[in-house]
Amino acid sequence: MKAQAITPPARATRTAMLSRRQISLLVLAAAVPLIAVLPLPDFWIAQLNYIGLYSLTCLGLVLLTGIGGLTSFGQAAFVGIGAYTTAWLTLNTGISPWLTLFIGLGITAASALVLALITLRMSGHYLPLATIAWGLSLYYLMGNIDALGKYDGLLGLNSLSFFGVDLGQGRGFFVLTWAIVLALAAALLNLLDSRAGRAIRSLSSGAHMAESMGISTFRYKVIIFLIAALFASVSGWLFAHFQRTVNPSAFGLKMGIEYLFMTVVGGVGHVWGALTGAALTKLLDDQLQVLLPRLIGTSGSYEVIVFGIALVMMLKYQPDGLWDFVARRLPHPQREVDWADAPALPESAKPAAGELLLDVRAVRKEFGGLVAVNDVSFQVRAGEIVGLIGPNGAGKSTTFNLVTGVLPLTSGAVAFRGQTISGRRSRAIARCGIARTFQHVKMIPDMTVLENVALGAHTRGNKGVLSAMTRVDRAEERSLFKEAQRQLERIGMGPWLHELAGNLPMGPQRLLEIARALCSDPALLLLDEPAAGLRHKEKLALIEVLRQLQREGMTILLVEHDMDLVMDVCERLVVMEFGTLLMEGTPREVQQSPEVRAAYLGTEH
Ligand code: ADP
Ligand code: MG
Repeated sequence: MKAQAITPPARATRTAMLSRRQISLLVLAAAVPLIAVLPLPDFWIAQLNYIGLYSLTCLGLVLLTGIGGLTSFGQAAFVGIGAYTTAWLTLNTGISPWLTLFIGLGITAASALVLALITLRMSGHYLPLATIAWGLSLYYLMGNIDALGKYDGLLGLNSLSFFGVDLGQGRGFFVLTWAIVLALAAALLNLLDSRAGRAIRSLSSGAHMAESMGISTFRYKVIIFLIAALFASVSGWLFAHFQRTVNPSAFGLKMGIEYLFMTVVGGVGHVWGALTGAALTKLLDDQLQVLLPRLIGTSGSYEVIVFGIALVMMLKYQPDGLWDFVARRLPHPQREVDWADAPALPESAKPAAGELLLDVRAVRKEFGGLVAVNDVSFQVRAGEIVGLIGPNGAGKSTTFNLVTGVLPLTSGAVAFRGQTISGRRSRAIARCGIARTFQHVKMIPDMTVLENVALGAHTRGNKGVLSAMTRVDRAEERSLFKEAQRQLERIGMGPWLHELAGNLPMGPQRLLEIARALCSDPALLLLDEPAAGLRHKEKLALIEVLRQLQREGMTILLVEHDMDLVMDVCERLVVMEFGTLLMEGTPREVQQSPEVRAAYLGTEH
């Protein structure tokens, strides 16, 4: 009876079921031709065309700002690049617009790349300011170039035609625009649910965790910046042939702000938020422009005032946008386990027991005048569990950060399996086979436990953004998820696979971090206070996990305050106090040392 209940669902049901995402995309895709043939007034088709054009840029902003955490006020400039490229080329050279689309994308990519390399290393408010700066300068550039018609722009473009059929400004254009919107929305949804997508979703929670998983956060920032710019450029291309004229006012800073406004109102963290925001703003804007002057009795741009107030209210009461309000009320579908028969990921050759694994040689870290780690040396051999202990502020976490490259050394060296690793970036060190957890758990709360743990296997896959968008990455994804599940089950987290990580109690959160670290196939595991915040039972389970890992040949360096746990599982202890190494020895020797007692109890000796 019981065995039957836990049998995984049969394959047939699995393939027959469509995910909620697939259903919503199919419904929308069916709606596009339907709307085109319905006898809707042309006015509404035009409205939908504008909404589609705005949605494209907003989709890019969802990825860049909502998911990646990089705020941009400058997207309108990329719309402008796409629009001006096609306008100038089609007017002056007669090239087909279907070709100028790609030339525009090329120019956009090149300029976005230059901007990205200059600005994306900036943090805090500097990046948004930089986006304002380029938004402004591109506007004036477009307005001052003679060949681009200065502030009057370029007039008399042809509308798009498709195999001789003029798409015009109405239904034909509507079908094209919305086919592109839905295709790019689908591509974005695919991307977010992939190896690259998990890396992108980790960007907004600080770089340390992602880099420690071997991810180049800068690379992914550049990638999402490029994608957002390219989406905007497509919108510009369509826009130019829709309006059949381009001028700088549509691509200035004001529009850049409006795109961000739309996306935030719609729900900057959700792909559907982009469409919601574009639709809501466009429709409200039009209604208010007619209604308000009638209500007030004089003409004027009152809608701007209403929008300003609405935005403030929105940010206060529904900061995550309208779509977020909807998304929270939708049931959270559970990911289907379709990786049971996926091939296992290859594993690296493990060091032989007793091999010198980690050699910490006189490492030193000064923070201004404070010497947090004072010429500390110790070694860890393969197969050992070594405890690094000491009172609060002794420099244990800092030592971890020095070993894993999270912080640069002031002096000293660290070698791993005979190679000097100090001086390398943390993601390079991670790729050597060192995995870690953090004293303060670092995870992505709105990803499931399984997805968080799969992030740990990032370096064991290689599928990129394009494979993800087109879904040709599925075979690798299944292997990554299979590995994530295996590691979670290895440490007793099997029942939590599909839970959102943010909903986990403290104990399972720490186990999630251990599973994520294990997922990288490490030779050495550094655990920073894994038992902190755990209840008694969870602690016993953790001890069991550590023992089991050791039996399986894992080497562990452990920072822990819980003396029972340390004495129980460690073969050797390294004791630190005020940044210096106080002593090294077996748990028994350490327990009997008067210096160590003094350090812990604060008694004079
Ligand atoms: P432990 O993990 O042993 O409790 P830490 O390594 O976190 O200790 O800290 C050691 C000392 O270094 C503490 O005095 C702490 O305040 C200081 N410290 C840690 N990180 C920084 C930092 N980024 N900047 C300045 N001081 C720091
Ligand atoms: Mg610490």
